[in-house]
Amino acid sequence: MKAHSGNVGVFVRIRPTANFAQGLVECLPDGQTVNIYHRRDSKKTQDFIKGQPNSWSFRLEGVLQDVSQEEVYDRVCHPVVQGAFDGYNGTVMCFGQTGAGKTYTMTGSTKSYKQRGFIPRALQQVFQEIEKRTDFSFSVQLSFMEIYNETLLDLLSPVQDSSPPSARGMVVMEEPGRGVVIKGLSLHPVFSEEDALDLMFEADMNRITGSHALNRNSSRSHCIFTLHIESRSRTLSEAKYITSKLSLVDLAGSERLGKTGSEGQTLKESTYINKSLSFLEQTILALADRRRDHVPFRQTKLTHALKNSLGGNCNTVLVANVYGEAEHLDETLCTMHFARRMKNVQIQPAINEHMDPALQVKKLQKELLMLKEELSIHNTLLNIQSIEHEPLSEAQLAEISIQVQSYLDGSLMEISVMSIRQVEAVFAQFKLAVQKQEQKVVICNTCSSMKKDQGPLTSDMKESDGRSVTEDAEATQSHKHTRRANTATTKTKKSRDKHSTTQGEGSPSSRKRCESSSRKQSSVQTSENSQEPDAQNQEAQPPEPVQPESPPTKSESFEDFKVGPGSKINSILKENKAVLLERQSLLRQLTEEINAVKGEIDAVMSTLLQHKQMRAAQDKYPVLDEEPDAASLLQLRELKTLYRLRHVALHDIKAEVNYCEHLVHQCRVRLVSEFETWYKTASLLPAEKTLALIQSDDTEQQQQDELPPDASSAQFFHNARCRTQKRRDVRAHSGYRRLLPTLPAT
Ligand code: ADP
Ligand code: MG
Repeated sequence: MKAHSGNVGVFVRIRPTANFAQGLVECLPDGQTVNIYHRRDSKKTQDFIKGQPNSWSFRLEGVLQDVSQEEVYDRVCHPVVQGAFDGYNGTVMCFGQTGAGKTYTMTGSTKSYKQRGFIPRALQQVFQEIEKRTDFSFSVQLSFMEIYNETLLDLLSPVQDSSPPSARGMVVMEEPGRGVVIKGLSLHPVFSEEDALDLMFEADMNRITGSHALNRNSSRSHCIFTLHIESRSRTLSEAKYITSKLSLVDLAGSERLGKTGSEGQTLKESTYINKSLSFLEQTILALADRRRDHVPFRQTKLTHALKNSLGGNCNTVLVANVYGEAEHLDETLCTMHFARRMKNVQIQPAINEHMDPALQVKKLQKELLMLKEELSIHNTLLNIQSIEHEPLSEAQLAEISIQVQSYLDGSLMEISVMSIRQVEAVFAQFKLAVQKQEQKVVICNTCSSMKKDQGPLTSDMKESDGRSVTEDAEATQSHKHTRRANTATTKTKKSRDKHSTTQGEGSPSSRKRCESSSRKQSSVQTSENSQEPDAQNQEAQPPEPVQPESPPTKSESFEDFKVGPGSKINSILKENKAVLLERQSLLRQLTEEINAVKGEIDAVMSTLLQHKQMRAAQDKYPVLDEEPDAASLLQLRELKTLYRLRHVALHDIKAEVNYCEHLVHQCRVRLVSEFETWYKTASLLPAEKTLALIQSDDTEQQQQDELPPDASSAQFFHNARCRTQKRRDVRAHSGYRRLLPTLPAT
């Protein structure tokens, strides 16, 4: 419940008197307005309100004249206490001239139960409310503090010694999340109204009272009584709980110094009191002025200690205590002005809701346990083996790593998935494998280019790809050429097989070159021969240093590419090639058939010609029959029809062959282009930047010479030039020195 919202609630309580200032102080029947009229013949009053109008009207939340303690409490304090149970902070302050009834309002008479004030009544309300709210458990703590001459005093200090209060270390502090706290102030848990009242009386006895000209018993200090209430639900095991702070403040007399005629200690007290109240007023003015972003809370102990209790998210109520007599009219006016300023302060009460982290953890643990149980029931119902929900052990992770490796090398066909944790671990292993592979590719690519004698690197590629170009181009012309090309394919395949079996004995690329190029390049053969396991040769001339796992050549990379990232385009290329071959074969067949028909036509034509010649001679010797001619002519007509049909078919097939050739060419260009991009990307990885230092100067030329002679050569040239330029730049900046390859550890 929000006690007051919008503005600070302000009430005025007029101390009962038989000499009420009739005609000067007027309380209107609305119960909210007080009018004060200035009496012109009063010199003092005239001085005080010099230049001001002679009548004032104050409209407040309530004017309490001749109202019982009970009614005052019910109207002023009860809603604030109620709000504290709902989590709203609350402050009730009594302000006014000494003797006007602040302490009477706040504490009341200690002798009469009926005349008890806000504090004992609030304690009663609190414990009654606790009794009522059985669904909640409450904890109540109280503190009682006095501010005397800018010094904080604990009125309920458990240590009653003679040491100065400052030595007890009470200090106003601000803590994140908690706001203002008084460090060193004792907090007393109370479990009953009686306990709390005991403490209240004890504190009352400890109050410092000073002698004063107006009222010997009036306090010369500010007293702040605070109740800390915390409530938690008993029914809902929530981590949520609420707290509130209820402050009941009995301020020191607000009268001006000159009026009291104090001296010595009392003068000092008055100075402090006036100073703190003057700052309280400034603070309130600042709080009321929305344009001001700074409120001088820290100027005095009082305002600092009340920082979270004046306005803001707190239900704040002020009781302005005034005398009813005319002689106190000037102070009454001052009090009323203060009250009006206080009325302008905005409040936005908010519930203090917190989460208990320990309870939150407990709740989550409970929930987790429940979910695990539910899952296990679910698994049992579905006849699923018991699944491990705990984090995987080292051994389990190692097992998964082995499974992934086996899956990758093909020895394991599938990895059975049992839990999400296992899936995550499997994915992690795949990622690791890919990363390793990528690293390997970069290193291999770089190493392959460092070897000067790896001319066949791209010639291999030429063999595997360039070969096909030749093969396809020549196939349209002759069968023999196709056969030659097939031989080349077999050769390459053979060399690849050899490469796979000889891995570990030396550089796979050099082995492959040796196999594939031995019949073509004697120089290369010589170079490769030096790597044969000939002990003598090895002693005389060390074999080419190789890495334990030698890097693939560019052509091997190309082969890898064809089965890896470029597999799709490669398979399309293969399909297109197959169609092309089939069409070419059909074309050849048709050509032969047409030639045969043509031959027959020629034969018939020649027969007919012979007959014609014979008929010419018949004129001389007229014996010859004409029937054979008719049969030949019929045959000739049929043959010509057949010839025309075959010719049309030949024309169609030729068009198809041309189209297929075009497709094959396009696929090839794309395959090579994609490979170059892939290869270039790998080469541009940071690892190469370092390894590029060991590349030879003539790579550029070598690459140019060995690139497949197709449309992509311009791109290859460009790529190679870029790479070389990059290497040159690196060398130029690092003082490049050719590094010799090292022998592998034996
Ligand atoms: P303050 O704390 O403002 O200096 P007190 O509360 O001590 O003044 O009041 C001074 C005297 O006036 C006390 O003896 C108190 O009993 C009496 N008094 C103040 N207000 C009332 C009131 N509303 N009804 C009866 N007595 C009052
Ligand atoms: Mg008092």
